[in-house]
Amino acid sequence: MLSSNSGNIANNLAQIHKNISDLCQTWHRKVEDVQLLAVSKTWPVEDIRAAFNAGQTCFGENYLQEAVNKINDLHELEIEWHFIGAIQSNKTRELAEHFDWVHSVDRLKIAHRLSQQRQPSLPPLNICLQVNISQEATKSGLSLNQLPSVVDEVISLPNLALRGLMAIPAKADKLDAQREALAKLRQALTKLQLTHPQLDTLSMGMSDDMEAAIAEGSTMLRIGTAIFGERKLSGL
Ligand SMILES: *Cc1c(COP(=O)(O)O)cnc(C)c1O
Repeated sequence: MLSSNSGNIANNLAQIHKNISDLCQTWHRKVEDVQLLAVSKTWPVEDIRAAFNAGQTCFGENYLQEAVNKINDLHELEIEWHFIGAIQSNKTRELAEHFDWVHSVDRLKIAHRLSQQRQPSLPPLNICLQVNISQEATKSGLSLNQLPSVVDEVISLPNLALRGLMAIPAKADKLDAQREALAKLRQALTKLQLTHPQLDTLSMGMSDDMEAAIAEGSTMLRIGTAIFGERKLSGL
């Protein structure tokens, strides 16, 4: 775990809300249509508490064991927990038990397991399908071609609520290049909405491509670094 930097977190959050609101004006988006998910991977529970005390209620985590420990530690807070990391099929039960959302469903098998393992007494598990928009061999995610048939199948599963699409595009520095990748996800969702109007979520946009994401219709920004600071551990 990294050391806590709670002092800056409330300021960072205020700055990000200001940025989101300015960008929504620039790109003609309604600010209430763009949610902020705080990505707290590698940061200690004190930092999550600091963000929560500053009004942030949705948190995203990538590593299951770390996440479950935090969820247990913070069970007294009304936090909505989102899983955004790679999914191993033998870990789906814990995801189904502990999370409100899973953004990174990248194969049918995972969706079936999550539906089977979600307690019917809980609200349906909200999920997004992860799409490999940059067609990178190293990135997980469904191809755009696979999407329609996977959506038709996932939408019928009983204990899931399919909410939309998620992507992690290849890194690009320029706004235009960032937008080009993210536009593919927006277009894919728009097409699916013709037959499935309940799909309402475009999970895209991180600290470095927030403006492109807002311009291209993101409804949920996943922001880590700009809230909590640089993650110092390699590979995270
Ligand atoms: C770490 C992570 C983020 C946050 O990235 P930042 O650049 O720190 O804002 C968003 N989405 C996913 C899937 C991540 O793994």
